[in-house]
Parts: sequence; structure tokens; C-alpha cells
Amino acid sequence: MSAVIRTRTIRRRKARGMQTVEAELCVLGAGISGISAALEAAKLGRNVVIVDGAPALGGQAIGAIIGTIIGLYTHGPEPYQITHGIADDLIRDLTAEGSILRLHHSTVVFQYDEMRLARWMERKVEEAGIKVLVGAVLTRVVFRNRRVRHIEFATRFGAVKVVADGFIDSSGDASLSYESGLRVREPNEPVYGTLNFLIENYNVAAVKSLQMKDVHEKLKSVGGDYGLVRHDGHLMHYPDKNFMLANIGHFQTPLDPLSMSSMVIEGRRQADGVMRFLKAEFPNIFRNAKIRTYGNPGIRQTRWIVSRRQLTLADIRKTTRPKDAAARCAWWVELHSTPELVHWERFKDGHVYYIPLSCMVPKEADNIVVAGRCVDADSHALSAIRVMGPCIAMGTAAAHALDMAGTGAVHKIDLKQFQKRLYDNLERTD
Ligand SMILES: Cc1cc2nc3c(=O)[nH]c(=O)nc-3n(C[C@H](O)[C@H](O)[C@H](O)COP(=O)(O)OP(=O)(O)OC[C@H]3O[C@@H](n4cnc5c(N)ncnc54)[C@H](O)[C@@H]3O)c2cc1C
Repeated sequence: MSAVIRTRTIRRRKARGMQTVEAELCVLGAGISGISAALEAAKLGRNVVIVDGAPALGGQAIGAIIGTIIGLYTHGPEPYQITHGIADDLIRDLTAEGSILRLHHSTVVFQYDEMRLARWMERKVEEAGIKVLVGAVLTRVVFRNRRVRHIEFATRFGAVKVVADGFIDSSGDASLSYESGLRVREPNEPVYGTLNFLIENYNVAAVKSLQMKDVHEKLKSVGGDYGLVRHDGHLMHYPDKNFMLANIGHFQTPLDPLSMSSMVIEGRRQADGVMRFLKAEFPNIFRNAKIRTYGNPGIRQTRWIVSRRQLTLADIRKTTRPKDAAARCAWWVELHSTPELVHWERFKDGHVYYIPLSCMVPKEADNIVVAGRCVDADSHALSAIRVMGPCIAMGTAAAHALDMAGTGAVHKIDLKQFQKRLYDNLERTD
């Protein structure tokens, strides 16, 4: 006989309580930039809470099956690493377990297994003693005298309030800054998103003969017959795993809740179209292929902050180091501004440019630092600095800036000291 489970009867109290979490630093958004910021802040001895609306950590790096980490190295035949911090631990640990692969094309690209990266993030956050609050969507920010005082979240199990000295907005959509009532930017023309997906059961031996230029030509000539709009993109076979990542669709990612929700269906419809296209046009490879997993809709650019200084395309074409440099970058301009094609601007080998701290701090706030794809840059510059390498570097810098600011203003930190702390990400060339 099984054990008896005893039960009780309750009724919800009239006034719902709100649980309070106190920390020195609150990170809103647990994508790659938020994870980097939280781990760095914990390493600095700070009491950290990381919050995300999704039910698990990882943001797009995991949920949208991004598949490769780019932007960690310079371009050219002899690239060097420009971002360290969590990138070093992540590459070391996942390489040891065979879950990440280092490829050298025009730069170094790391192809990763998203489930192993997810577990790595969870393990590291747990080991660092970081409080985790997932499934928690921001509902209210109390902002007074240039400071966020606390933020409130709705969860399935009740409301939670987070009180902290400093806040990192790594929400991708500048949610914290927007809900604080600060000025933010939105694009007038769409920057397209993509729903990545994994394909299995294709002819692994024959896939070596697949040339992306042939796929692109076919997409251009007959893609429309399969309901496809995009003429470029990539298919990436994972050696040893026998599955392939597809990044081929393009759809708009508006900030309206219902329109955004319909993108899940639109993205999957496009993925199914890609599958029909591949089976019909490249049957020797894809005749029996199937979609193994659909990612969440991948969002490139939605809403971002108004900072003290917007980073521009002209800035990233130069190699001049600003006096408040916070991160180094090398990735090219990769603007998804038309349905058909990505606009690329390639820099010469060895080109390095910088993200200044001033483009990561909202002009009107003293205790918010932004990291990731919602820092202040024009659309061209943002399309280059939003990839995961720079996101990791911005997370590191955000943690140091707020650690130095303490209960003061982040705008007033000692920049020399700040850059000394970021030596690995600003100076190392080994
Ligand atoms: C299709 C696609 C392909 C890409 N390919 C590559 C690639 O190959 N290599 C590469 O390096 N980069 C690539 N990128 C870019 C890169 O993946 C992203 O820019 C990067 O992951 C962004 O990280 P993030 O931490 O800034 O934001 P995100 O990963 O978007 O994380 C933001 C988090 O904040 C949470 N959040 C937002 N608002 C709220 C709220 N109101 N309340 C609670 N939580 C909230 C979200 O749930 C989310 O988890 C690609 C992007 C896309 C879309």
C-alpha cells in the first residue's frame, strides 16, 4: 500500500503578500551578458540576485539555440582573444567535456551544445552562491532621485520585490530602463529576427558536399515557393553529434505582446518551409531529414537605452580607444535590415574597436548599468556589438562599474581604476 498523502484546505488571503529579496546587486536578464555580470559580481564578493522572466537561465544563448559564440577573437590568420572573464572558464570546461568546438574561419568561432552550456551556467551560478529568481516578469520599478530603489516581479507563485544598491539591465529589451521611465530608443524600420532550429536524420556523409552558396542561389530563385523570404543564412553541421543548426528565416520582432507571440508560429512556419525546401532541392542530403528542436524566436534588436554617449558606425570603423573603454570588439557589422539579405561590413584583419562605459549607462540614472544587446549604439554599431563575445565583456564591465560605484553614482567612478580591473579584456593580446 502506498503512503497516505495528507492534505489541507486553504483560501487565498485578501491582501497578497510580497516576498522581498535583498541583495547588493540585481541582474535583470539571465542571457549571456547577465550571466557574465552576475558571475563577475559574485567573484568580487558581492551579494547578487539574478532574475529572468523565462523558466530557466540562459536567455537566447540557450532558448533560441544560437549555436555559436562569436566575437571573442580578432579576425585574420593569427587571431587573438579579446574577451576573457567567464569566456575562459566556459571554453575550458566545455572543451574538457567535448561540448564545444573551436573552429577557425575568418575568426575563431565556438560551436556549442546548448544543453551543456545551460547546465554549465546553472552550476556556476549555484557554486558562486548567486540567488536565482526565474519565471519572474518585471511589473514595476520604483525609481526616485536618479536611482532604482526596488523592482517588483510577478511569478506564478506570487509577487517578489528585489531591493538592491545597483542594477544591471541585461534584459535585451532595456526593460528595466524603460519601466524606470527613462528615455529609450526603438528602431523605425524593422531589424529582423530568426527562429533557429536543429535538423536530424540527414545524410551525414553527403553533407560535406553542401555549399551554402548553392543553398543561397536556390533560396533566391525558388525560396518564395516554400513561403521563405530570406536568401542567405547558414546551415551548420555539428561534427560527432549528427545534427545541424539552421539559421535561415527572417521575421519582424515588434514589442507588442500579441504580435510578438505570433512570431513563435511564424518562425516555426518558416522553419517548416526551410525543411520542405531542403528536402525538395537537396534530396541527396535531406530526403529523410526532420526537425529535431525548434528554438524560441531569436530577437536581434528591439529597444535600447539613451546613454551618455551613443556608439556609432563611425566609431567602430576606427580603432581609437575611448578614455572610458569597457570592452574590446572585432565582429563585423551584421545588420538584418531587409527580409532578403543581411547587410555586412567587414573590417580588415586585426581590426579592434571599443565599447565605452558611457554607452552602457543611462544618462538619467546613477545605479543602472546596461549590458548586452540593449546598450546605446546606432543600428549598424549595435548589429556588431550584440554578439555573445562582446555581451560577455559588457557583463564583466557592468559588474565592475557597479562594484566600484557601491551606493554612489556609476558616472563618477575612477576610470583608470576601472580599466585596470578590466586589463584582460582591454589589453591582453596573448
Ligand atoms: C537568430 C540569432 C542568431 C544569432 N547568432 C549568433 C551567433 O551565432 N553567435 C553569437 O555570438 N551571437 C549571435 N547572436 C546574437 C546573440 O545571440 C544575442 O545578441 C545575445 O545572446 C544577447 O544576449 P543578452 O544577454 O544581451 O540578451 P538575451 O539573451 O536576450 O537575454 C535577455 C533576458 O532577459 C529576460 N527579460 C527580458 N525582459 C524581461 C522582463 N521584463 N522581466 C524579466 N525578464 C526579462 C529575457 O527572458 C532573457 O532571458 C544571434 C542572435 C539571433 C537572434
